[in-house]
Amino acid sequence: MDITELAIDGWRKVVRVADAPSGLAAIIAVHDASLGPACGGCRVRKYPTFDAALDDVKRLSRGMTYKNALGGIPFGGGKAVIIADPKTEKTPEMMRAFGRAVDSLGGLYYTAEDSGVSEHDMEIVRSVTKYVAGIAHQGVGGNPSPFTARGVWRGIEAAAKAKLGRDEIKGVRVGILGVGAVGIALAELLHEAGARLVVADVNETAVRDAVKRFDAVAVSPEDCIAADVDVFSPCALGGSISRDSVSRLKAKVVAGAANNQLATPDMDQALFDRGVLYAPDYVINAAGVISVGLEILGQWSPAELTRRIDAIGPRLEEIFERSARDRRPTGEIADEMALEVIAKAKKAA
Ligand code: NAD
Repeated sequence: MDITELAIDGWRKVVRVADAPSGLAAIIAVHDASLGPACGGCRVRKYPTFDAALDDVKRLSRGMTYKNALGGIPFGGGKAVIIADPKTEKTPEMMRAFGRAVDSLGGLYYTAEDSGVSEHDMEIVRSVTKYVAGIAHQGVGGNPSPFTARGVWRGIEAAAKAKLGRDEIKGVRVGILGVGAVGIALAELLHEAGARLVVADVNETAVRDAVKRFDAVAVSPEDCIAADVDVFSPCALGGSISRDSVSRLKAKVVAGAANNQLATPDMDQALFDRGVLYAPDYVINAAGVISVGLEILGQWSPAELTRRIDAIGPRLEEIFERSARDRRPTGEIADEMALEVIAKAKKAA
C-alpha cells in the first residue's frame, strides 16, 4: 500500500492512499488536532477527479474541527474519502485496506460512517484497526438519528425562547422539511411537547405517516419554506437556505438537522438582516459526533449522552446572546467560538 503525505497549508496531516490489490484510492485529512485526535466520518463517492476529492475532504475535515470543538468533545477535525462508486465498486477488501491506512496513522484519526458507508463496512474496518467508532456494540453507540433529533429539539427550544419569548414548545408552529430518520423522530418529540407541525417530504409515505401520527399538516417541499410557521426546520438535504428561499421565509427561526443548510455562506448575514434567528447547523446537529466522541473516550452511557446532547441548548443560547449583543450573524459567532475553544487548548498545551 502506498501512503503519501501531501503538504497542505493549514492542515495537520493529509495522506493519499493507494492500494492496487484492493483498488483502494483514498484521502485521509486531519485538519486540526489541538483538542485531541481527529475524528470524522469516511465517505465513499465516485469523485470526477482526484482534486475534487481533495477539495471535499479538506472542506469536510475543516468542518469537523468546528463541529467537534463546539460539540464539547476533546477531538480535532478529520475526514476520509474513498474514491469509488459505493454501489458498484466498494468491496470488503477495499474497506479492509482503508482500515489498515487508518491504523497506520497510529490514532491521529478516528473514522466513522458517512455517506456511502454502511455499519457492515465499518465492522470490516474495525477488524483491522481500533481507531473506528460509531458502530453499535455491547449496547454502546448505534443509530445516531434519535440522538440528533433530541439535539435539534433542544436547539428549537433555545431558539424559541430567544427569538419568540416562548418558555415552552407548546403551541409553537414548526415546519419540518424532510421527515426521514431525524425529521420523523424530531416530529415525535415536538408533538409530545405540544408543538403544531407542518411537514413536507418528497416521500409521500413518510408525509402520510407524520400526518397520521402527529396530526401534522402536509405541504409540498416547495411551499414548506414559505409556510406560516414560527420555526423552519430543514431536515432533508443541504442548501435549502438560498437567496430565493430566504425572501419567502415567514418563520422567525431556522433550526434543523440538515448539514450545510446555507446554500452560500452569505446567507448567514442574509438571515440576520431579515431578523431570522439561525441555529448554526453544525452546532444543533452535533449529537451524532458527541455520541461517537463519548464512545472513543469509553464514557458512553445513555445518561451521559443525554446530558451532553442537552448542552446543545445552552451552547446555542450563548451564540444567540453574543449575536444579539455584537449585532453579528450567528454562524459567524459560532465559528469564532469554535476557534476560541481551539486557541484555549493550544495555549494550555
Ligand atoms: P434521511 O435520508 O433518513 O431523511 C431525509 C429525508 O429528506 C427523506 O425522507 C427524503 O425523502 C427527504 N428529502 C430528500 N430530498 C428532499 C427534498 N428535496 N424535499 C423534501 N424532502 C426531501 O436522512 P436523515 O438521517 O434523517 O438526515 C437528514 C439530514 O440531517 C441530512 O442532511 C443529514 O446529513 C443531516 N444529519 C443527520 C444526522 C443523523 O444522525 N442522521 C446527523 C447530522 C446531520
